[in-house]
Amino acid sequence: SGGGRHSKPAEVATPKRTQDIIKRHGFSFKKSLGQNFLIDSNILRKIVAAAGLDKSKGALEIGPGIGALTQHLAEEAAVVTAVEIDERLIPILGEVLSDYDNVEIVHGDVLGLDLHELFRRRYADVTGVSVVANLPYYVTTPILMKLLEDKLPLEHIVVMIQKEVAERMAASPGSKAYGSLSVAVQYYCEPELVCIVPHTVFIPQPNVDSAVIKLSLRKVPAVQTPDEAFFFRTVQASFAQRRKTLWNNLQSWIGKDKRELLERAMTQSGIDPIRRGETLSLDEFAKLSFALYEAGIR
Ligand code: SAM
Repeated sequence: SGGGRHSKPAEVATPKRTQDIIKRHGFSFKKSLGQNFLIDSNILRKIVAAAGLDKSKGALEIGPGIGALTQHLAEEAAVVTAVEIDERLIPILGEVLSDYDNVEIVHGDVLGLDLHELFRRRYADVTGVSVVANLPYYVTTPILMKLLEDKLPLEHIVVMIQKEVAERMAASPGSKAYGSLSVAVQYYCEPELVCIVPHTVFIPQPNVDSAVIKLSLRKVPAVQTPDEAFFFRTVQASFAQRRKTLWNNLQSWIGKDKRELLERAMTQSGIDPIRRGETLSLDEFAKLSFALYEAGIR
């Protein structure tokens, strides 16, 4: 179906409407669920615009809260699915989104859901699906890693996250923010920092800065690896102690008894063992993991 509204509903994302809904339902925020609701429609429009949705596309929202972003998604996309863990929000979402016939609310923990099943059920007729969300900050990394590692057929992931985490995802080799999260994200996606967001657009206000990041999924990963899991183990080991050299970190991982194997693999890779992990590009990590793998270190 084309989906959408029958008549233009009142926008949720104003401080007053949000307060009214919360008061009427006797809702109290749960800090432990990362509940910081957006109350600024300009920011919401910016997030939705970055996802490049249209009436041929699907959207998956994680943590709809009281449905402010969900309304905007329902206007722009053909099909919207929103997964919310907090049972108390389900009736509120039903009310706020009652004018839309293209939205499904799923009550559950996104980390425990079979997303492939959800995709088959909900997005069979769309030309592409993007994740668009203001994520609960306490589980940002597990949620994003699940989306990427499950290898869901996604176009973009546009999410509001902690600014510091966004900077780590988009960081270049040699910078302080560059680490195993940067490599993991950039292996699957091209990251783009969309905007930095002030505290004042949320209630309650979080005590960290926020940013919107857009991750565009690559058709094929950024680099070839001997084995994906082994590549990521190599990366993890290289960053184990940031101030140590590659040689020291790899030796702690592989074991001192395999010193000669490691020496041979390092020579083979062409990477100077006195460098630090944080200076290696994805290409260099791939070279390193091939050399280790071929030397018999698994
Ligand atoms: N989208 C709303 C907005 O922008 O105003 C709310 C965003 S709020 C930062 C995060 C939402 O995620 C909350 O509604 C919270 O209950 C929900 N949430 C937290 N953990 C979750 C999980 N594991 N699975 C699904 N939803 C979750």
